[in-house]
Amino acid sequence: MFRALLLDQTADGITTEVVELDDDRLPDGDVTVDVEWSSLNFKDGMILKGQGRLVRDYPHVPGIDLAGTVVESGDARYAPGDRVVLTGWRVGEAWWGGYATRARVKGDWLSPLPDGLTTRQAMAVGTAGFTAMMAVDQLERHGVAAGDPVLVTGAAGGVGSTAVGLAARLGFAVTASTGRADMEGDALRALGAVDVIDRAELAEAPTRPLLSERWAGCVDAVGSATLAHVLAEVRYGGAVAACGLAGGNDLPTTVIPFLLRGVTLYGIDSVMCPAERRAHVWQRLADVLDGDALESMTSEVGLDELPALADEILAGRTRGRVVVRTAG
Ligand code: NDP
Repeated sequence: MFRALLLDQTADGITTEVVELDDDRLPDGDVTVDVEWSSLNFKDGMILKGQGRLVRDYPHVPGIDLAGTVVESGDARYAPGDRVVLTGWRVGEAWWGGYATRARVKGDWLSPLPDGLTTRQAMAVGTAGFTAMMAVDQLERHGVAAGDPVLVTGAAGGVGSTAVGLAARLGFAVTASTGRADMEGDALRALGAVDVIDRAELAEAPTRPLLSERWAGCVDAVGSATLAHVLAEVRYGGAVAACGLAGGNDLPTTVIPFLLRGVTLYGIDSVMCPAERRAHVWQRLADVLDGDALESMTSEVGLDELPALADEILAGRTRGRVVVRTAG
């Protein structure tokens, strides 16, 4: 038997209940994992609320991230006792996920837990932090270097706050853009931001195709008019890593920043990220992350608290990262 948060679809909408299930309810797969920790991401909020048609088959166990210990494996790469982490691959959407004490998945989707990270820390990172590392790593590959001015939008959220911490550890001069500067400004500075600005400054599409050059790079979790505004402020040869749509999925821009300033717009996808890059990103997380900073932006909840938190994350009111204790 295992414990899980089960979603179902009824005439009245989506229902949620913490239940005990038989192991034979687990999906087919080649590796069975005792899940110790999961996490809450923006996409989990959508799934818990039945939004975006992300889940097609009910009943369903959500949770797009999981970390734990292998208990059974038909995959030669994994043996009982191995510590593993999983983000992406549409687990928790098209496949039962991490809001349970047990999961059965495909070995191809797992990554070995890198040395230096606990399963709880891996879930404090989770999809949001993994995405932040991908974005920061992408800016570095582009040539953004220590001392360069880098903007992070949606900075008090999961992707944003991890990106602030990682970018600061790499020596970037980080400006954090947030709608909660009054409440979260000090915490963002403690993570390493040298400046905190009100997101209202960037919220409108730019009045001209090019504005004054400000940023060598940007990690953008917001999209829409904010991303358009940022593109007009990226300095010559700079880059933006677009990883979110918290402000909307449109992009009201012109091609002028690309043509006249050689700006590069990178797309960041953590879900189908290939295994080799995934291993690199996890190792970089283990190497670059400051464990104390990660803990300072992490809160912990049980399975039964998740339904109420879905509204909070969708409204942009959760702070930093939320880890989920599966056992109780
Ligand atoms: P959070 O809700 O934790 O953070 C989003 C942040 O965006 C909020 O905290 C808020 O930051 C800001 N925000 C919210 N609404 C608005 C708005 N209307 N206008 C401007 N800013 C807003 O979510 P996550 O950090 O988990 O995810 C952030 C985004 O990244 C989401 O869109 C998510 O779907 C996407 N994502 C993409 C992934 C990928 O693979 N590409 C993987 C993971 C997430 P503040 O209060 O500081 O202003």
